[in-house]
Amino acid sequence: MEHDGSVVIATDLTRRYGEGDTAVDALRGVSVDIAPQRMTAVMGPSGSGKSTLMHILAGLDRPTTGAVSIAGTEITTLGDNELTKLRRQHIGFVFQFFNLLPMLTARENIVLPLRIAGETPDELWFDELIANVGLTDRLSHRPAELSGGQQQRVAIARALVSRPTVLFADEPTGNLDSSTGAEILELMRRSVDDLGQTIVMVTHEARAAAMADHVLFLADGRIVREVGHVDQHEILKIVDELDVG
Ligand code: ADP
Repeated sequence: MEHDGSVVIATDLTRRYGEGDTAVDALRGVSVDIAPQRMTAVMGPSGSGKSTLMHILAGLDRPTTGAVSIAGTEITTLGDNELTKLRRQHIGFVFQFFNLLPMLTARENIVLPLRIAGETPDELWFDELIANVGLTDRLSHRPAELSGGQQQRVAIARALVSRPTVLFADEPTGNLDSSTGAEILELMRRSVDDLGQTIVMVTHEARAAAMADHVLFLADGRIVREVGHVDQHEILKIVDELDVG
């Protein structure tokens, strides 16, 4: 959040899974430049390389060739321990299926990454964040006692509690009904507008991409189109034109 320039820069990424005849080229030369305090959406058909790209940008996977820098640090040459440390400091991740620990309360889930890092949450920030995500009266509940939308709010709070430089969200509304999904999108949008959060979100929903400031379209491991903020109608038109829906 404190960086003026790009927060994530990827150059000429390729990612090959497997070898020989059965090798799959999931990314075939992708360069991206993620601007701070903006929401970037990544769209594309199933198998186009969206998850692979996200995982590489977040330091969860390494490219076959190419470079990634996060907050000014080149990560592709870091050792595992250094990479883990950098991820803890700079990266938040939200998944489609929430990935909460069932035996922990909402509060315990949210502060777990800090506890693992041996840190205590900043109480003022914690309270502001919890009010912002609307969980103040749900903190002592376990995931099974929360709705899907509330569980995703917990996951978002968990990702934001360490004030990451960038939040990656992989289909964050993919497992939610339409109106709950809309609430989660609003929440993510607010975290950009009010808290200055940087977000990169993979989505196949036009209405989600229409809330972004920047949209990348992937097809067959390449970026085939990039646009700034456009409405849902325009997103659908592009998806149609590119045949990447
Ligand atoms: P998307 O997120 O757009 O659906 P992915 O990044 O998951 O696309 O996958 C891109 C391509 O790489 C697909 O052809 C997929 O089958 C392949 N792929 C993804 N993960 C693996 C893996 N671990 N091993 C082999 N192939 C993989």
